[in-house]
Amino acid sequence: MENVEKIRRFPCTVCPMGCELTVDCETLTVTGNGCPRGAAYGVAEVTHPTRTLTTTVALRGSDRVIAVRTDKPIPKELLLPAMDFIRAYVAPENVRPGTVLVEGFMGTDANLVVTGK
Ligand code: SF4
Repeated sequence: MENVEKIRRFPCTVCPMGCELTVDCETLTVTGNGCPRGAAYGVAEVTHPTRTLTTTVALRGSDRVIAVRTDKPIPKELLLPAMDFIRAYVAPENVRPGTVLVEGFMGTDANLVVTGK
Protein backbone atom coordinates (compact mmCIF):
# COMPACT_ATOMS: atom_id res chain seq x y z
CA MET A 1 0.00 0.00 0.00
CA GLU A 2 1.32 3.44 -0.97
CA ASN A 3 0.96 5.77 2.02
CA VAL A 4 3.63 8.33 1.24
CA GLU A 5 2.21 11.50 -0.29
CA LYS A 6 3.86 12.07 -3.64
CA ILE A 7 2.21 15.41 -4.28
CA ARG A 8 1.47 17.95 -1.58
CA ARG A 9 -0.50 21.18 -1.93
CA PHE A 10 -0.42 24.02 0.59
CA PRO A 11 -0.31 27.82 0.62
CA CYS A 12 2.98 29.66 0.74
CA THR A 13 3.17 31.69 3.96
CA VAL A 14 6.28 33.70 3.12
CA CYS A 15 4.32 36.77 2.01
CA PRO A 16 0.67 37.89 1.97
CA MET A 17 0.16 36.79 -1.65
CA GLY A 18 -0.48 33.26 -0.35
CA CYS A 19 0.34 31.43 -3.60
CA GLU A 20 -0.98 27.85 -3.69
CA LEU A 21 2.06 25.63 -4.00
CA THR A 22 2.14 22.13 -5.43
CA VAL A 23 5.23 20.15 -4.50
CA ASP A 24 6.32 16.85 -6.00
CA CYS A 25 7.89 15.22 -2.93
CA GLU A 26 10.03 12.86 -5.02
CA THR A 27 11.59 15.37 -7.38
CA LEU A 28 11.16 18.39 -5.05
CA THR A 29 9.69 20.30 -7.96
CA VAL A 30 7.53 23.26 -6.92
CA THR A 31 4.83 24.84 -9.07
CA GLY A 32 2.34 27.61 -8.33
CA ASN A 33 4.94 29.82 -6.69
CA GLY A 34 4.99 33.45 -7.74
CA CYS A 35 8.65 33.90 -6.88
CA PRO A 36 11.80 31.92 -5.94
CA ARG A 37 11.20 32.34 -2.22
CA GLY A 38 8.05 30.27 -2.58
CA ALA A 39 9.99 27.47 -4.26
CA ALA A 40 12.48 27.41 -1.38
CA TYR A 41 9.63 27.42 1.14
CA GLY A 42 7.87 24.58 -0.66
CA VAL A 43 10.96 22.37 -0.62
CA ALA A 44 11.69 23.18 3.02
CA GLU A 45 8.10 22.45 4.01
CA VAL A 46 8.21 18.89 2.66
CA THR A 47 11.80 18.13 3.72
CA HIS A 48 12.29 19.94 7.04
CA PRO A 49 9.30 22.04 8.11
CA THR A 50 9.86 24.85 10.60
CA ARG A 51 7.62 27.23 12.49
CA THR A 52 8.05 30.42 14.48
CA LEU A 53 6.79 29.78 18.01
CA THR A 54 4.57 32.56 19.35
CA THR A 55 3.18 32.18 22.86
CA THR A 56 3.21 33.63 26.38
CA VAL A 57 5.28 32.87 29.48
CA ALA A 58 4.75 33.47 33.18
CA LEU A 59 6.37 36.51 34.74
CA ARG A 60 8.16 36.21 38.10
CA GLY A 61 6.48 38.02 40.96
CA SER A 62 3.30 38.57 39.01
CA ASP A 63 0.18 36.76 37.93
CA ARG A 64 0.63 38.24 34.45
CA VAL A 65 2.06 36.59 31.38
CA ILE A 66 4.16 38.22 28.68
CA ALA A 67 4.20 37.60 24.94
CA VAL A 68 7.26 35.87 23.51
CA ARG A 69 8.33 34.40 20.21
CA THR A 70 11.32 32.74 18.65
CA ASP A 71 13.33 35.12 16.51
CA LYS A 72 13.70 32.42 13.84
CA PRO A 73 11.61 29.43 12.90
CA ILE A 74 12.45 26.21 14.76
CA PRO A 75 11.93 22.63 13.54
CA LYS A 76 8.27 21.71 13.70
CA GLU A 77 9.03 18.55 15.68
CA LEU A 78 10.39 20.72 18.51
CA LEU A 79 7.13 22.64 19.02
CA LEU A 80 5.61 20.23 21.56
CA PRO A 81 8.80 19.87 23.65
CA ALA A 82 9.19 23.65 23.41
CA MET A 83 5.72 24.16 24.87
CA ASP A 84 6.58 21.76 27.72
CA PHE A 85 9.59 24.00 28.42
CA ILE A 86 7.47 27.16 28.18
CA ARG A 87 4.89 25.87 30.66
CA ALA A 88 7.63 25.39 33.27
CA TYR A 89 9.49 28.62 32.46
CA VAL A 90 9.15 31.84 34.48
CA ALA A 91 10.61 35.01 32.99
CA PRO A 92 12.55 37.35 35.25
CA GLU A 93 11.01 40.63 36.38
CA ASN A 94 11.70 43.82 34.46
CA VAL A 95 12.01 42.31 31.03
CA ARG A 96 11.16 44.50 28.03
CA PRO A 97 10.20 43.87 24.43
CA GLY A 98 13.36 42.68 22.71
CA THR A 99 14.87 41.01 25.79
CA VAL A 100 16.37 37.63 24.91
CA LEU A 101 15.10 35.15 27.50
CA VAL A 102 16.73 31.99 26.16
CA GLU A 103 19.63 31.91 23.71
CA GLY A 104 19.88 28.86 21.50
CA PHE A 105 16.30 27.91 22.33
CA MET A 106 15.79 24.12 22.34
CA GLY A 107 19.27 23.61 20.93
CA THR A 108 18.56 25.63 17.79
CA ASP A 109 20.10 28.88 16.58
CA ALA A 110 16.88 30.71 17.48
CA ASN A 111 16.43 32.80 20.61
CA LEU A 112 13.28 33.14 22.71
CA VAL A 113 12.53 36.86 22.79
CA VAL A 114 10.03 39.04 24.63
CA THR A 115 7.62 40.72 22.21
CA GLY A 116 5.07 42.29 24.55
CA LYS A 117 4.68 43.77 28.00
S1 SF4 B 1 5.55 32.23 -3.75
FE1 SF4 B 1 6.51 34.23 -3.53
S2 SF4 B 1 4.86 35.68 -4.12
FE2 SF4 B 1 3.87 33.71 -3.68
S3 SF4 B 1 3.29 33.81 -1.49
FE3 SF4 B 1 5.32 32.82 -1.61
S4 SF4 B 1 6.77 34.49 -1.32
FE4 SF4 B 1 4.81 35.42 -1.86
